Amino acid sequence: MSFKNCQKDVDDWVNQFKNPYWPPLSILARVTEEVGELGSELNERYGGRVKKSTENVKDIGIEICDIIFALFCLANSHKIDLDDSWKNVMNKCWGRDNKRFERKEDNENSKQV
Ligand SMILES: [Mg+2]
Repeated sequence: MSFKNCQKDVDDWVNQFKNPYWPPLSILARVTEEVGELGSELNERYGGRVKKSTENVKDIGIEICDIIFALFCLANSHKIDLDDSWKNVMNKCWGRDNKRFERKEDNENSKQV
């Protein structure tokens, strides 16, 4: 699994523009906007929000990817290789958090780090 192609896709697309990446706080604002769109859709499906007559049903997968796209922009603008970051996150899961949550009785997937 790799984020490289996704990060490159985003970089190729934004680099056709004069100012490819927005400043970090603008990107963060965009992330929160997209999280809000996902939240609205989930709240309409599973919570109490009622869609306006002018609103269409949104694809949850696309809303998730809108968030991911904005996060790739943030990573790319900081020259962050998310593959390296991901390895560190998973090492935290298999290391620090390995015994944090109750396991299924027959779990054979416990790794030793
Ligand atoms: Mg969206």
